[in-house]
Amino acid sequence: MDKKYTECNRCGKVINYGNAYVSITRNVEQANFDLATNSEEIEVIDSNEIIALCGSCGNLFNADTIANIINGIPTDSSKHINN
Ligand SMILES: [Zn+2]
Repeated sequence: MDKKYTECNRCGKVINYGNAYVSITRNVEQANFDLATNSEEIEVIDSNEIIALCGSCGNLFNADTIANIINGIPTDSSKHINN
């Protein structure tokens, strides 16, 4: 039985439980190194999903494309356009 989990934020297609989908999130993370186990771990302090995309829409974006878009956003808030 298909049970709806969410909808694609771009095309509206239903994403059911068990379907793979692309989630773009904003995480606040802290890296730690455990000397006893000689291993690192990343603690996710906060996580917000920015967008969920079906496979078809999500595969249009690879990590490099998304990084280029984000790097194009001015960090000086005075340059932001307010709509
Ligand atoms: Zn979609």
